[in-house]
Amino acid sequence: MATAAANDSEGGGGMTLTTKIVIGMVAGLVVGVLFNVIDSPFINEHIVGGLFAMIGKMFVNGLKMLVVPLVIFSLICGVTGIGDIRLLGRVGGKSFALYMATTAIAITLAIVIASIIAPGAGFDMTGVKAGTVAAKEAPTVWDVFAGIVPTNPIAAFAEGKMLQVIFYVIVIGIAALMLGDRSKGFVEACEYMNELMMKVVEIVMMFAPYGVFCLIAKTFAQQGIELFIPVLAYVVTLVSALFLHLFVTLMIMLKVLSGLNPITFMKKIRPAQIFAFSTASSNATIPVTFRCVTQRIGADNSVASFTVPFGATINMDGTAIMQGVATVFLANVYSIDLGLMGYLTVIGMAVLASIGTAGVPGVGLVMLTMVLAQVGLPIEGIALILGVDRLMDMIRTAVNITGDAVVSTIVAKSEGKLDMAVFEDPDAGALSEGEFEIDEEAEARLAAAARPHDRA
Ligand code: ASP
Repeated sequence: MATAAANDSEGGGGMTLTTKIVIGMVAGLVVGVLFNVIDSPFINEHIVGGLFAMIGKMFVNGLKMLVVPLVIFSLICGVTGIGDIRLLGRVGGKSFALYMATTAIAITLAIVIASIIAPGAGFDMTGVKAGTVAAKEAPTVWDVFAGIVPTNPIAAFAEGKMLQVIFYVIVIGIAALMLGDRSKGFVEACEYMNELMMKVVEIVMMFAPYGVFCLIAKTFAQQGIELFIPVLAYVVTLVSALFLHLFVTLMIMLKVLSGLNPITFMKKIRPAQIFAFSTASSNATIPVTFRCVTQRIGADNSVASFTVPFGATINMDGTAIMQGVATVFLANVYSIDLGLMGYLTVIGMAVLASIGTAGVPGVGLVMLTMVLAQVGLPIEGIALILGVDRLMDMIRTAVNITGDAVVSTIVAKSEGKLDMAVFEDPDAGALSEGEFEIDEEAEARLAAAARPHDRA
């Protein structure tokens, strides 16, 4: 059956899974736009809101179910594999500093670009409904740090509180290191579980072309193009800033700090970008980012097992860019001059907000309420950009996870924990659907063994 299923969808011969996912994405876009134009109640309710929503949700759930176990086992292996607590501290310190730096650069860039393009200047507010968004309270730096230590680790696992999970698992890993030889069995079991989880990631990824198709088709079927017209200037400014950060800032950082080729890097991280774009969730994308960073780019598990989930939780360059552009846009719409202090506050708030926020869809907008409240901009202005936020969320999440991968790669390279042979090999870690076909020869051998009289 597995063979038939694989052959059915094979069509393009030795097509890699990434190619198939790209096809799923483009097909989803075309079908989604078409359904949006047709606007049939039957299609909207049963196909888009029913079938597509169901498959898309199953796929995202499939990714999410992997996150916590994958982080637990890979991180335990990472800590025990590093073997040296000082090195762990160095990896932690470097990645934290780089994550904060990239976010601060991202939002500064966003504010500069938005100030030049000045979206929202002369905007006509008549006919704009007041939003129903309530401002979120800003957590203090102290609250953010205190929240890292879980009172109940099982609750942290169950709720997917990544900072708490990371903290707890690192402590367990360190304890295992301290017990030395006594931990051998435990470490071996974790290594096995880590390998097993990576296999499960591959299984879930086999469904990606269909999951991605449904997610994208649903989004575009539900988002009419007319939503974009009134806030076109905002969208254009935001997308320009996101692309500039993605292709220029991050790639220059990669080249300067690690000496690696940005084009090779971009090719290798593409599957994770597509997953992030389709799911709009850095957290759900952790398994794919982790797989790309370790198996395609060549970073060692001991670094990536920490930097990838850590980045997905605290590093949100794309989200910070959205917050910067949105703030300038709304300040223009309401003709409020924020002044230098206002902008510095926005930068500080956005960096802080990105630490305490989980990488899930739409949360960037919730955090924006906090930033706006802090600089005295009307929260209801969010109503203006609400309509386009899903699509913007997809793009900024792809930027978010690229930032995670760039920092992970730089840290791994600086620690001598990046396998250049893997990085240079274009096929390293690439999946093709054929991998999951049952080997016909093996099948024939099994069948023959079951029927001894058939043997020659
Ligand atoms: N969806 C984003 C992420 O998961 C967060 C956000 O900006 O809403 O990275």
